[in-house]
Parts: sequence; C-alpha cells; structure tokens
Amino acid sequence: MTDGSDTLQDIDKTDRHFLHPWQDVVSIGEDDWTVLETSSGIYVKDVEGNKLIDGPGGMWCVNVGHGRREIIDAVTKQISELSYFSPWSMAASVTTQLAERIAGIAPGDLNNVFFTTGGSTAVDSALRFVFFYNNCLGRPDKKQIIARVNGYHGSTYLSSSVSGKEREKANMDMLPNLVHFVSSPKPKDRAKGLSLEAFCDEKIAELEAKILEVGADKIGAFIAEPIMGSGGVVVPPKGYFKRCHALCKKHDILFIADEVVTSFGRLGHYFASEDVFGVVPDMITTAKGLTSGYLPMGALLISDRLMEDISQTSNEPRGFTSGFTYSGHPVSAACAMANIDIFENDNLLEHVREVAPYFADAMNSLSDLPEVTDIRVMGLMAGIECELDASTPDEDRDCAFTLKVDAICQDLGLLVRPIYNACVMSPPLTITKPEIDKMVSILRAGIVQAAKG
Ligand code: PLP
Repeated sequence: MTDGSDTLQDIDKTDRHFLHPWQDVVSIGEDDWTVLETSSGIYVKDVEGNKLIDGPGGMWCVNVGHGRREIIDAVTKQISELSYFSPWSMAASVTTQLAERIAGIAPGDLNNVFFTTGGSTAVDSALRFVFFYNNCLGRPDKKQIIARVNGYHGSTYLSSSVSGKEREKANMDMLPNLVHFVSSPKPKDRAKGLSLEAFCDEKIAELEAKILEVGADKIGAFIAEPIMGSGGVVVPPKGYFKRCHALCKKHDILFIADEVVTSFGRLGHYFASEDVFGVVPDMITTAKGLTSGYLPMGALLISDRLMEDISQTSNEPRGFTSGFTYSGHPVSAACAMANIDIFENDNLLEHVREVAPYFADAMNSLSDLPEVTDIRVMGLMAGIECELDASTPDEDRDCAFTLKVDAICQDLGLLVRPIYNACVMSPPLTITKPEIDKMVSILRAGIVQAAKG
C-alpha cells in the first residue's frame, strides 16, 4: 500500500499487483516494466526521462497524437458540466451530436450508432445484433458465424470466440458450435508460383465452400477486419474484401467489417470499407481512433436496411435488450467530438494520404535485411515480419527475436509492437516525414543489433 506519493526509487517496476492483458500468470512480479509518465505528439517519456517514439500509437489508437490541448479542454468542460447520465432513459446533447456526426461520415446507410465501451464490446454487440435480427425475422437457426484464422476481434467471450489466433486460445474457453473459420488471406503463405489473383480466387472459393458446407440458411454473419491488425498487418490480395462481401450478399449473410483499427484515419479515411475497399457493410465496428485512445469508447454502426427489416416484422416493440452503463458516455463523446474536430482542422486524413507512400517506402527499405522476410504496409500501419532462418521455421525463435528487437529499439528511443514474429508499427497519424525516417532508422538498427546476438 502506498500513499500515492511514490518517488522514482519507490516505484515497483515489477507491477506486482497489476495483472496486465495477456500477462504470463506464472511470472507476475518478476519482470521489469517500462513505466511511462508523460506523452506529447508522437513521443512518450518514461519515469527515467527517456523519450521514446510511440511506434504502435498506443495500440493503433493515439491517432491525433499525445497531449492534444483541444481534447483535454473538451473533456474538462464536459466533465464539469455533465459527467454522466443514464443512456437508458435520457439523451445528452453531446452524444446525440456525436451519433449524428458519425452517421454523417459513415458509408452508405449505416446511420444507426450503438455506443459501446470499446472494440470488444462493439464486436460483441454486432454479433448479438445478428442473433436478434434473425430471431426477429423468424430465422432462429441462422446464427452461425464465419470468421478467419488469425483475425482478432476482442476479449469478451463472444468476440474472442470469433478471433482466430490459435496461440491465444490455450487454456481459454471459446463458445462451442458457433464459429467456422476460413484461412487467412496472407499472400506470403500462398503456394510457390501462385499469382496473387489465383491466391485470391482460392480464398474466395474456400469461403464459398464453407458457406455451402455449413449451409447459408444457418449462417448469420461473416466478420472480417479489412486489414488484419493483430494478425500481423495482413494486407489481403486486391479485390478480396469486395468479393467476400459479394459472396455474403449472394447468400444472404450479414457482413460485419471490424474497423476497430482501420477506421478514423489509419488508412487515410474515416472508414476504410467503402473508401478503400469499395464495400458498404451491413455493420461496422469502431473504437480506438474514435477517441484517439484518450478515453474508452467504441461504436457499432448498423444499416438502415437491417433496422427496417426488423420493423417490418412486427407492429409490436422489438427491444434490442443490450447496452452498457457507459453506452454513449458524455465525457467520452465530448472527447470523440474534439478528436474529430482535430481531424477536420488539421486535414489529418489528407495528411495520412500524403505521407502513406513515404511511410511505405521507408518500411520497404528494410527489405535488404536478411532477417526481414515480409513487409506488409497500408496507410500508416506496417508489419515487418522477421525470420532468423526462413528454411527452418521456428515460431518461438522468431517471436523471441522480435521481442529482442523491441528491447533494443527501446534503448535507442523507439517503442515497437512485437506481435509474434512481426514488428508492428502504427504511429500517431500526425507523424512527419523526418519522424518516419527517424523511426525506421532506429528499427533498422534494432533489427541489425538483435541479429548480431
Ligand atoms: N477488433 C479489432 C480489429 C481489434 O484490433 C481490437 C483490439 O485490438 C478489438 C476488436 C478489441 O478492441 P478493445 O481492445 O478496445 O476491446
């Protein structure tokens, strides 16, 4: 127990009492954690005064950069004026305005905004809406979900059940008899000599075969991230996302685009589904960049079509009996409003579109390093896959390598996000070309030094 006035010497860097997400329970209290104290722009500072580039942008979320006065002021004002109300029974002007604003920037007829506490609860709500929708339409058997191997959709029971990262399922229970997985559209894994077009055909054929195997009358929805983020930044072959959508439409399967990472500017648009991939999904999930990570908030966007389908089934009320104490929290809503103001005032989407090719070139410049075996970039997200010996695959060895790269880069002034054998970068969208150069030169040095042992 402390009185909250710890000095640097007193701080328990082993974080004995904080069980972190994904932490190894066996070694709690044994590892030293980097303890951060302040942040500004693309930088964070640790308690020892080391200034580090925030390569992962928090966790793909600090899109407008750290320390934005506009957000601090808006949040302070909102918390002073109206800190909370019950979203069950009241509306707050700021949340109403935010819903209207999100509907205005969302694709197609995705005009209905259901606020959640983050990305997992947005995905959870999307899946619950699928069940609700088909119950209302008198199709109680149409509830199965198709998801993808290596997709990541969250950490609640439902959202983790549609996540396809096998290693993360060890010792955890997933919902049985609900989810069917198809393989990841990761081009690097295609058979030798197979063109990208033929690889895409293969993935689409696999999805259709899965639909026919399970039966379209049993499948409620297909869920996919436009770019798999936590799967290591998997950029699918051209046309893949659009063809998956067309298949779902053909078989009357709802299409959920999980844009928790790709929305709010990561790919240079508020939402990537339509602007980048030419798809208007039935539902979109968003979080992270919605508030740039300053406060927790997520949202599920639902199309008018789905709402109308439900209303046409009955003149009786059809309550979507789902929601959270903090759905549409006014302080988070004020944060999101200020965040979107920054996007507009700073022309942030245009900025991303302008620097993205430079970012891609910088990342691709690492291809001369022998340990780098695949570079995947889109917008301001990149996955640099590392293998110490591509002829003898060894996941544990390569995961240990990227952890080492991260440790060395931290000493050199850069935070990296090692995800298995990939170094993942998703910096604040405000990053400039000189800052990209600095980031990539540190990453290069980190990989070179780690490879030297
Ligand atoms: N969906 C995607 C695509 C994500 O990347 C994440 C988190 O990284 C989530 C959902 C879960 O979001 P949260 O951690 O805010 O619950």
